[in-house]
Amino acid sequence: MTQKIAILPGDGIGPEIVAEAVKLIDFLKAEGSLDVITEEAPVGGAGYDAAGDPLPEATLKLARESDAILLGAVGGPQYESLPRDKRPEKGLLGLRSELTLFSNLRPAILYPQLADASSLKAEIVAGLDIMIVRELTGGIYFGAPRGIEDRNGERYGYNTAGYAESEIERIGRSAFDIAMKRGKSVCSVDKANVLEVSELWREVMERVAKDYPEVELSHMYVDNAAMQLVKWPKQFDVMVTSNMFGDILSDAAAMLTGSIGMLPSASLDANGKGMYEPIHGSAPDIAGKGVANPLATILSVAMMLRYSLNNSAVAERIENAVGKVLDKGLRTPDIMSEGCEEVGTVAMGDAVLEALKA
Ligand code: NAD
Repeated sequence: MTQKIAILPGDGIGPEIVAEAVKLIDFLKAEGSLDVITEEAPVGGAGYDAAGDPLPEATLKLARESDAILLGAVGGPQYESLPRDKRPEKGLLGLRSELTLFSNLRPAILYPQLADASSLKAEIVAGLDIMIVRELTGGIYFGAPRGIEDRNGERYGYNTAGYAESEIERIGRSAFDIAMKRGKSVCSVDKANVLEVSELWREVMERVAKDYPEVELSHMYVDNAAMQLVKWPKQFDVMVTSNMFGDILSDAAAMLTGSIGMLPSASLDANGKGMYEPIHGSAPDIAGKGVANPLATILSVAMMLRYSLNNSAVAERIENAVGKVLDKGLRTPDIMSEGCEEVGTVAMGDAVLEALKA
């Protein structure tokens, strides 16, 4: 059955990098290895410019009826003075909540060819391949009550960290399902020595694990997890954690790889529908210059094939093509190192396409 992909380029470098990913999708369609239709719509600042709304109704409708969404990035200095509900990031947050994209997949992969880009020693990070599964729609970022109020003659700020069993269970299943497609090991990160919400988290993870006898489950306190990520990150396969812990750990893990232009991400619902995007922003400082690295977006397409479109074989072909291009020594400026050849956005996209055809 033909599947539908919503293409939402967004702002800044978004349209430049998404165009390179679409080139690959078009080739795979023409070649007969992908049966998809694509449709483009504005989001973020582009949505505001086109329809006065960072998430125009037509864009949301397209996202709802699609099997997967490819998003570039949103945001830019020209939109920063808009009222909060018109700002570009509202487009992103709106898509996440409207489509119940509760499972955020953040891989930290370091291609061996780029090991020098990390601030850690090459032997610690070369070949790194971790998947952090972060709960995205609950926890302390959304918990009530919350606020700032007067108490005992001074101001008092507070938030509530809470998870329902069903919320823990669904993110747990998401992580175990992913582990089944990878190294069959899940490390659940919590703070069960201090927090009741973590105690429940741990209990539910243990329960979910019983349905996945092939997957090994371990638990780690979040402070230790932060240390272990820096000390010996290759010990991890899949890490699953709450919204706030995941926010912090996934950025730390991303930085282990030293190259923000290389990392894709996914946000999934309970049925495998997902939004795929590079982890970086709209990079207004380099927008329009033709130098942005399109590889994170191209690798987002590979993730889309694996997790929403059920086509791991083509996903692997894309990942291998990226590897070949790096082997050839082609680099955009953000990952440039001595002895390599510097290329722009379009040349990098073309090189991946050629490698895919070979
Ligand atoms: P950013 O990720 O856009 O840029 C940080 C630095 O990394 C910049 O120097 C940029 O040039 C560089 N960079 C980013 N992506 C690159 C790529 N593909 N190739 C080469 N270099 C790249 O973060 P920022 O500067 O903090 O934010 C800029 C705008 O993006 C803001 O409006 C912010 O709100 C928005 N933003 C959006 C998202 C998103 O859409 N998911 C995420 C983060 C930030």
